[in-house]
Amino acid sequence: MYNTDIIVIGGGIVGSSVAYGLARQHAKVLMLDEGDVAFRASRGNFGLVWVQGKGHGFSPYTRWTLQSARHWPALASELTERTGIDPYLQQPGGFVFFTNQADLDERQQLMRNVQASVEEKYDYTFMSPAEVRKYIPAIGPKVIGACYTPMDGHANPLKLLPALQQGARQLGVDYRYNNPVEHIDYESGSFIVTTRAGEKYAGKKVVLCAGLGNKRLGSLVGLHVPVEPNQGQVMIGERCAPFLSYPTMHVRQTNEGTIQIGDSLEDVGYDDTTRLSLQQGIARRAIDYFPALADMRIIRCWAALRIMSPDGMPIYQESSQMPGAYVVTCHSGITLAANHVFTIPDWILRGTSAQTIAPFSSQRFDTLTRAQS
Ligand SMILES: Cc1cc2nc3c(=O)[nH]c(=O)nc-3n(C[C@H](O)[C@H](O)[C@H](O)COP(=O)(O)OP(=O)(O)OC[C@H]3O[C@@H](n4cnc5c(N)ncnc54)[C@H](O)[C@@H]3O)c2cc1C
Repeated sequence: MYNTDIIVIGGGIVGSSVAYGLARQHAKVLMLDEGDVAFRASRGNFGLVWVQGKGHGFSPYTRWTLQSARHWPALASELTERTGIDPYLQQPGGFVFFTNQADLDERQQLMRNVQASVEEKYDYTFMSPAEVRKYIPAIGPKVIGACYTPMDGHANPLKLLPALQQGARQLGVDYRYNNPVEHIDYESGSFIVTTRAGEKYAGKKVVLCAGLGNKRLGSLVGLHVPVEPNQGQVMIGERCAPFLSYPTMHVRQTNEGTIQIGDSLEDVGYDDTTRLSLQQGIARRAIDYFPALADMRIIRCWAALRIMSPDGMPIYQESSQMPGAYVVTCHSGITLAANHVFTIPDWILRGTSAQTIAPFSSQRFDTLTRAQS
C-alpha cells in the first residue's frame, strides 16, 4: 500500500498552506483533494489580510492574526522566489468606513477593547472625512468617518493558491485532486485513508483541511468540528485607473485594476447561488463610499461559502481518541496563511507552539454549549 508520513485532506488555501509548510520541514506529504466539484472558499473570497477588529472577546485570536500578518511578507517573498508566482501582497493599512454614528460608536468601543486585550503594539486611528480624503480622495459625502489601522493589507488569492500548490509540489508533496476521501481508519499505528474510488493510502498522521468537509471527516477520527456554511456574495467591476491605494473592508482595487466589492453574510445552508436583490445592496453600499463607482460595469459576481465555527474563530486540534489525527480549519484562511505555513507544521510535527494553539481547540464549544443551555 502507498505509505507516507502525513496525509493532508483538502487542497484549498488551508490544506495547501499546511502541506507546503510540512514539506518545507522535509516531511513526506500526500495531499488529497476532492477537486472542482467541491465548495471552495479559497476561490471565492475577498483577499484581505486583515487584522483590525479580529478577536474581540478572544485575545488569542487577535495575537494569532497579528502574528500571521507580520509573517506574511516572508511568505510572499518565499513563494515568489520559489515558484515565480507573486501573490501580490500589499500591506499599506486598511480602512473601515461608517455612514452612521451608531456603527461608528460601536466600532470605537470594539477597537478599544481589542487593543486593551493584547500586550502587542495595536495601532489604530479614527479619522474624520476630511482626514480620510487625504489618503483616499474619492470617498463620498455619506462617509462620516473611518477606522484606519496600519496592520491591514490584501493579496491576490487566485495567485496565492497556485503558488502554494506549485511550491508544495516542488518540495515533493504528492498532490492528487479528484480524490475525495470517504473513510479514515486507524490500524496498527497508521491511518488508512480510502477515497471514493476505493484507493487506499497509509499515513502516520492525517491532517483534516477539507473546509466544510471537516465536519464529517472529523467524526471518523474522534474530532468534533462544528463548522457550518455562511454565504458571502462578491462582485467584480471592470478595470479602471488606480484610485484606491488602500484596501477597505468592502471595496478594494486589485493588483490588476479591477474593483472587488463585497460582501454579504447569510445563513442559507449549502446554497451558493447569487441573488440580485442582495447584490443591489452590496453595490449601493459601495456607491455610498465611492460615488464614482455608480458608472462602473460589473463584469462578474459569485457567491461562496465561508467555513464558520460557532464563534467564527479557527479550530486546531489533535484527536485524543486517535492521536496523530488533526484538524486545521478557519474562516480567515488568507489572513492566516502565514501561520499555517510557518507555525502549524511545527505543532503537527513536533508538538511545539502547543500553548499558542491550545485556545483554538474545539473543546471551547463544549463550554459554549453549556453556557447557552
Ligand atoms: C465571500 C468570502 C469572502 C472571504 N474573504 C476573506 C478575506 O478577505 N480574507 C480571509 O482571510 N479570508 C476570507 N474568506 C475566508 C477564506 O476564503 C477561507 O478561510 C479559506 O478559503 C478556507 O480555505 P479551506 O482550504 O479551509 O477551504 P476550501 O477553500 O473550501 O477548500 C476545502 C478543500 O477541501 C476539499 N475537500 C472537501 N471535502 C473533501 C474530502 N472528503 N476529500 C478530499 N478533499 C475534500 C475540497 O475539494 C476543497 O478544495 C472569505 C470567504 C468567503 C466565502
